[in-house]
Amino acid sequence: MQNLQMVDLKRQYGKIKPQIDAAIQNVIDNTAFIGGKDVSLLADELAAYVGVKHVIPCANGTDALQIALMALGLKPGDEVITPSFTYIATVEVVALLGLKPVFVDVHPDSFTMDPASMKAAITPNTKAIIPVHLYGQCADMDAILAIANEHGIPVIEDNAQAIGGTYTFPDGRTVKTGSMGLISCTSFFPSKNLGCYGDGGAIFTNDDAMAEKLKMIANHGQKVKYYHEMVGCNSRLDTIQAAILRVKLPHLDEYCAARRAAADFYDNAFKGHPKLTVPYRAPYAYHVFHQYTLKVTGYDRDTLSKKLAEKGIPSMIYYPVPSHKQKMLESYGTADAYLPVTAALNACVISLPMHTELSKEELEYITGNLLDILA
Ligand SMILES: *Cc1c(COP(=O)(O)O)cnc(C)c1O
Repeated sequence: MQNLQMVDLKRQYGKIKPQIDAAIQNVIDNTAFIGGKDVSLLADELAAYVGVKHVIPCANGTDALQIALMALGLKPGDEVITPSFTYIATVEVVALLGLKPVFVDVHPDSFTMDPASMKAAITPNTKAIIPVHLYGQCADMDAILAIANEHGIPVIEDNAQAIGGTYTFPDGRTVKTGSMGLISCTSFFPSKNLGCYGDGGAIFTNDDAMAEKLKMIANHGQKVKYYHEMVGCNSRLDTIQAAILRVKLPHLDEYCAARRAAADFYDNAFKGHPKLTVPYRAPYAYHVFHQYTLKVTGYDRDTLSKKLAEKGIPSMIYYPVPSHKQKMLESYGTADAYLPVTAALNACVISLPMHTELSKEELEYITGNLLDILA
């Protein structure tokens, strides 16, 4: 089997090449590289897709989270609750802004923030909560929002891995991920479910005043050019990236469906295996499988990864070191935090190739070899 990759962007590009190439050429022809009309059109199209009032495109998903936190006007030392089991960006921006990360555990099945652990971590200093829709599955937002609202704490959704996914509330209302928090953030990093051809991100909100503030912060704290009301940053989505995303957004639902079809294939092969637990699909979520992540028990996970590599099958550990144990955060003294589920997951998760172009032959090769290794 030739050239298996965790993410294959080349074949996806091949299917939309004429439209992508024309969109890029159009930007070059117009030379509106910054703030071109594709940027505002993309914002409108994303707002309609996710079902929110305002979308502020920005330079990347990490900036989106940083700008969201800046817009809350917090003081140094204010506490922000996040899961430790996430990509470091969620946490890094908290520390960068002089805020205090407070780590909570995740649910062992869903891998997303455990509302009970979150509730127990709330103090009078808790000023924001950031649930992460990890691997493409929405966190249990009804429970999280209920607890947060009871305490008047704003929720920022980290939707970098789950754009296109949905959440169904207990009353039956189904909404898109990224539409429930006071603010939501996503990333258009190339390998994300909606990826551009470089860096990109966006911030979502339904709150008019918040939208103004987010826009201002992303643009050097100015509403009127050269009149700077507050300290902001410079975070823009390039017009070329916006034009590419405008070609890809109409395909996002089919991309999510392709990922789910690959996940179904994996599930069928692995379900019931004594050494494997297939990803849990929460009844409240439409899982869009940014990653397909197995739990391995009774077999060394790292040995499995090595043996897969020998067969030309890539795999990844997301993430090998939990956030609270990262050296970066040494001074916060979080390394000893009691997060048993996070610790257990870090030792047993493995992610398999997942993208929109996996063929039946590739999936058969991956699943067949993996089952042989475990046999
Ligand atoms: C990718 C990612 C980010 C950051 O996005 P960038 O565009 O790479 O800055 C933040 N949070 C999570 C959960 C991510 O997966």
